[in-house]
Amino acid sequence: MLVTLTNGTMEHYDDEPFAQGGQGALHLSKDRRWVIKLYHETDTSRAKALHQIIENYNVTKQDASAASLFAWPNAIVQAPRLGVRMANVNLQLEHRPLTWWIGARSYRRLPPAIRGNWLDRILIAANMARIAWLLHATGLCHSDFSGDNFLANVANHHAVLIDLDSLVVPDVLPPEMLGTGDYMAPEIVMGRLRPGKGTGPSIYTDLHSLAVLIYQLLLMRHPLKGPKQHDPDSEKDDLLALGERALYIEDPDDSSNRPTVPFNGAWLLGEEVEMLMRRAFTVGLRSPMQRPLAAEWGDALTRMIEQTVPCANPECEGKAFVLLRDQRAVCPWCGTKLDRPAQVPVLRLYDGAGQAGHYQAGRGRVVGWQSRKLHRWHVQPGLSERAVTRPEERRPVAEFQFKGSKWLLANLSIPDLRVVTRGSVRQVAVNESLTLEHGQQLILGGERAARLALVAMQRL
Ligand SMILES: [Zn+2]
Repeated sequence: MLVTLTNGTMEHYDDEPFAQGGQGALHLSKDRRWVIKLYHETDTSRAKALHQIIENYNVTKQDASAASLFAWPNAIVQAPRLGVRMANVNLQLEHRPLTWWIGARSYRRLPPAIRGNWLDRILIAANMARIAWLLHATGLCHSDFSGDNFLANVANHHAVLIDLDSLVVPDVLPPEMLGTGDYMAPEIVMGRLRPGKGTGPSIYTDLHSLAVLIYQLLLMRHPLKGPKQHDPDSEKDDLLALGERALYIEDPDDSSNRPTVPFNGAWLLGEEVEMLMRRAFTVGLRSPMQRPLAAEWGDALTRMIEQTVPCANPECEGKAFVLLRDQRAVCPWCGTKLDRPAQVPVLRLYDGAGQAGHYQAGRGRVVGWQSRKLHRWHVQPGLSERAVTRPEERRPVAEFQFKGSKWLLANLSIPDLRVVTRGSVRQVAVNESLTLEHGQQLILGGERAARLALVAMQRL
C-alpha cells in the first residue's frame, strides 16, 4: 500500500493491518521503521488535534532523551485516508504490553530474554513515573494509561508509552478516551453508573491509573479488587468496586476488602512507597488532588532500589527484595533466609536545618551492599536524582565495600567528609576508606547545610 503524508512524502506499507483498534487499523512500513494508524472515521478536528500534538505539545522535541520513551506521532497521513505515523518501537528492542508482566500465568510464558526480575520491575515502574511526569509537566494528560498502552522490555529496563494520538490538553484538545476498565479513576467510573455525574480525564485521573499500574507491576494484584462484594450483579459490583465504593485491599481502617489468604502487600516496598500507595488508595480515591504526583513516585522508587538486597537462592524468580527496617532478611518471593553477611550497614539521611548541628529527617534510607554507590543526590541537600542529567555529575561519590568481615565506605570524591564516633570528629580524605560502625554520624560535606547520615548496623 502506498501512503502519502501531508508533506507530500510517499511510503510503502503492508496492506494487511497487524492490529485493529476501536479507532483505526495499524500497519507496518515495508522497511519496518514506522507504524501508521489509519482511522476508521475522519473528521477535521482530529487532523487539527494531531497537528497540535506533533508541533505544539511535543514532549520529545523539548527533551531528546525522552524520545525513546514515547511512540510520539511524527507525521500525518493524508492518503489513502487520514492517519498518523509513529516510530516502530520494536525495531531495535522487542517490547510487549505491560499486561504480560501483571498476570502470574502470562508472566511465565514470557521469553527469558525480556522477562527480567523484580528489581528490573522497579526500574520499569520508575521509568513509567518519568514518562508520566514528562507529560504532566507539559500540561498534557494521556487519559488512557493501561497495561496495554505501556509497552515494556523489563529485562532491558525499557518502557515506552503508546497511543499518544488521543492526548488531552485541558481546554485545547478535548478528551476522546475515558480510560480502560481496571485503570479508570473512581470519579470517571462513577459517571458510568450515573451518567452526568462523573468527570472527564485529567492529570489526576492519569495519576490514579499510574498508581494502579505500579502496584500491579510490583505486587501482581489489583489494589482495589479484594473479596468484598458490593452488588450481586457482577457488572454493577465491578463498577462499585472501582468507583463509588472503591476500597483499598490494604486500607488501615477498614479490613473488609482484605484478601483472606496471606498475600504480598505494599509493606514489602519499604515505608516511603507503602505510604504513597496508602495515599493513592485511601484519601486519593475521593480527593484526586491528594494523589501522589508522578515525580513523587519516581523519587520514591529510585530510593526503594537502594534498599534492596539480592536473594541468596539462585533459583528465586524475584532475585531481590527490600530489606525492611528492623525485619529479618527473608525473601518474600521464595522464603529463603539471607544469612550472610551477619550484618549490613543502613544509612539514614538527614537534611541540615539551616543551623550548624541541627538536622531533620530526610527521605533517604540506603542499605549498604557490596559495590552500592552513593551519588551527589545523596550528599547534596535538596538535590533530586531526576535533576542530575550530565554524565560527569552522575559519577559515584562513595562506595560500600565488604572486606574481611568489615563494612567500609570508600570516599571517592566527597570533599570534607567527616565521621563522628562517640563525640570525636575525624576527617576522611578522598580516596580513603572508613570502617562503618553502629551509631556513627557521617557529615557529608563542608557546607553548613551539609547532609548527615546516621549509620545503623542491621542484623540479618
Ligand atoms: Zn528469593
